[in-house]
Amino acid sequence: MNAARVRPTALLALLLVAGSGLAQADSPPPWSYSGGTGPAHWGEEDTAYATCANGQLQSPIDIEAAPREDLPAIQFDYRPVPLDVTDTGYTIQVNVPAGSGGIVVGGERYDLVQFHFHRPSEERVRGRRFALVAHLVHKNARGEIAVVAVLIQRVKGAQNPVLRQVFDNLPDGKGEKKVEGASIDLNALLPRSRGYYTFAGSLTIPPCSEGVRWFVLKRTLPAQSGQIAQFAARYPDNARPTQPLHGRSVAQTRN
Ligand SMILES: [Zn+2]
Repeated sequence: MNAARVRPTALLALLLVAGSGLAQADSPPPWSYSGGTGPAHWGEEDTAYATCANGQLQSPIDIEAAPREDLPAIQFDYRPVPLDVTDTGYTIQVNVPAGSGGIVVGGERYDLVQFHFHRPSEERVRGRRFALVAHLVHKNARGEIAVVAVLIQRVKGAQNPVLRQVFDNLPDGKGEKKVEGASIDLNALLPRSRGYYTFAGSLTIPPCSEGVRWFVLKRTLPAQSGQIAQFAARYPDNARPTQPLHGRSVAQTRN
């Protein structure tokens, strides 16, 4: 990605790869997942990152008590997206073009912008972390963000077609690799049952902006250890630790 190619829909993607060195002008301060620029220090790195330290609605969280409620189902209408894989320096990410479909929740529509991965899962469920998590990032007409998190669990022999396509086509280093003529069916990245936990949260990377609606699917997606190892070879640990709830409530669907 370079400045000449930035489209409106790429703005969020740019925000999410901030600090990777790909954004040339106004380069944000560096951050990382360990040591002096690691998660415990993000808030000190720059005033623009203050929310990482001071925010009261930070993600990820450990999902513990979550009453079952009559919540609306998430309606997914993902269309095939180009196989266009970016190594941001922080994760493996697929930026999708406008018109790739999205989700509708309780009458609110959010368009898919990009998806990416963390290892291990940033979210915990009653303390437990999973091998990987996919974050599907969406934005509504007002620019508000909703993320669907799909927890990925190691299951012997469970080859996932989306993970295969993405992880078999990583760029050599940081940057983008587009595979002409190939497309990804994102429905294969969703478990069949789509009940969820939901709460108010934030981006899990600097600037840790709040106002993000989170939907963590309750059912995990199986993947074989070889696929997880492919991601781990590039990013063995790119998960922010869980953050305090500060009195937030978490709810879950009945199914
Ligand atoms: Zn993420």
